[in-house]
Amino acid sequence: MSGRAHDAAERCYYSAVASFYVQNFGCRATQADGAALERQFEERGLDHAAEPSQAEIVVLNTCTVTASADQDARAAVRRVHRENPGAKIVVTGCYAQRAPEELAALPGVAQVVGNSHKHQLVELVLPEAFAPGLQRDPLSRGNSFVALDTLLKSKRPTASDQRPIFVSDIFAHTELLAAPVFDAANQRTRPNLKVQDGCDNRCSFCVIPFVRGQSRSLPLGRILGEVETLVRAGFREVVISGINLGRWGRDLETSYQPSAVSSQFDQPPRFETLVRAILERTSLEKLRISSVEPMDWSDELIEMVAGSPRIAKHAHVPMQSGSDAVLRRMHRKYRPWHYREKIEKIRTAMPDGAIGADVMVGFPGETDSEFEETRRMIEELPFTYLHVFTYSARPGTPAAAMAKQVAVKVARDRNRVLRELAAVKKQRFMESFVGRRVQAITLSHDNSQEDFTEALTDHYLSLQLPDRMEPNRWVSAHVTHTQDGKLCGDVAEALPRAASSMPSLTSELAFAP
Ligand code: SF4
Repeated sequence: MSGRAHDAAERCYYSAVASFYVQNFGCRATQADGAALERQFEERGLDHAAEPSQAEIVVLNTCTVTASADQDARAAVRRVHRENPGAKIVVTGCYAQRAPEELAALPGVAQVVGNSHKHQLVELVLPEAFAPGLQRDPLSRGNSFVALDTLLKSKRPTASDQRPIFVSDIFAHTELLAAPVFDAANQRTRPNLKVQDGCDNRCSFCVIPFVRGQSRSLPLGRILGEVETLVRAGFREVVISGINLGRWGRDLETSYQPSAVSSQFDQPPRFETLVRAILERTSLEKLRISSVEPMDWSDELIEMVAGSPRIAKHAHVPMQSGSDAVLRRMHRKYRPWHYREKIEKIRTAMPDGAIGADVMVGFPGETDSEFEETRRMIEELPFTYLHVFTYSARPGTPAAAMAKQVAVKVARDRNRVLRELAAVKKQRFMESFVGRRVQAITLSHDNSQEDFTEALTDHYLSLQLPDRMEPNRWVSAHVTHTQDGKLCGDVAEALPRAASSMPSLTSELAFAP
């Protein structure tokens, strides 16, 4: 059978048998995995059901970053089983990797597939894919194929053999699932592209390295290809993300890069190389960089973000704590003065840029005075928004076994104090734009009755504009006032699509890995 006829037969076979629904929980990386799974099911010709209750296969792509994330996942399994008892429920993601037996024991669960086998989930769910004539691995590229018998060796027996578990050593795992994510809120405007997965750090509170494995990067050629495909599809802003995005490239071989840029490398590429390549070798109008750890904000990266009109003026720099003692107990690799210096450099380079941070309160042993160091540092630094988290013990992490766990009420109070401080800072930042012009991209409408348009500024602020406008348009707007955590303004002019002088990448990408 020719490859094309074979693909057609395969699509036809599956479209006759099943519809699927993938429900994602948790962070951007999990959503990106979910988008890749959807793409793989669709490539097999399966129908995308509108809701879990209408699907024959329901994949629950879980998170395990807090105890409440685990609870949400278990509740979702029960709900899907209750509303759709005939569905084949497959649980995957970080919780599946961390505690597969716990999930396999829930009613209705047909299979548990850890992150170690997530790239093979579609074959595991549709074993007919291994029938004679279909014995191939369309999900894997190059030499990443894992033979089925290898896979089955990692199947661990469970209470019921009807509920197999596919989980193995996550640190031996080198696959990276990638597909752009289109948020409901930002649909058709700002796709998110995961370019890195896993983490080689060992922060004492974090379970991510144990459920996502070692740091690995999407090769440069594939990223440029994905970005250019998104541009050709009409997208004007793309967000690049990862679990530890600033480590992108450290695991790649120089020789794996497209020849057009490999001459720049005599060492594995760095994140700065990726940013520069996207600017130089794609016609993307606006690149937004998601979270990058403080020590990866090099002078070169700061200079690029500040200097290029094609990069959003936005730096998200996880902080976690302003106390040296707490940072040490967290096994974070920087000290408060390193962090302060980075933020000050970023502010000097980008006087109007958005600067955000993740902060954790209630880490084991956090005293009042250690919390006060964090609060004071936040007060003094020019943050424009914060994501404040309350520490939640994750089984198996060093922090979970530490003495002096902080009382829930104390942690909640600290969380509130920081949120209030963040709100004041955000308001001050927003007011600095009143009376000025800003550039923003219009977002999709949630509600067909709305007679206004939501947009997002370069500086990561929501902007409300009068009248309905098409999504995905760059506008220059005049900010008149602030209201309910948003800027409000009038459109001064619609900005034309930037003319592209970039060459087509098609021929170069043909030999990219
Ligand atoms: S840097 Fe630390 S907190 Fe972030 S994913 Fe890695 S181990 Fe977890």
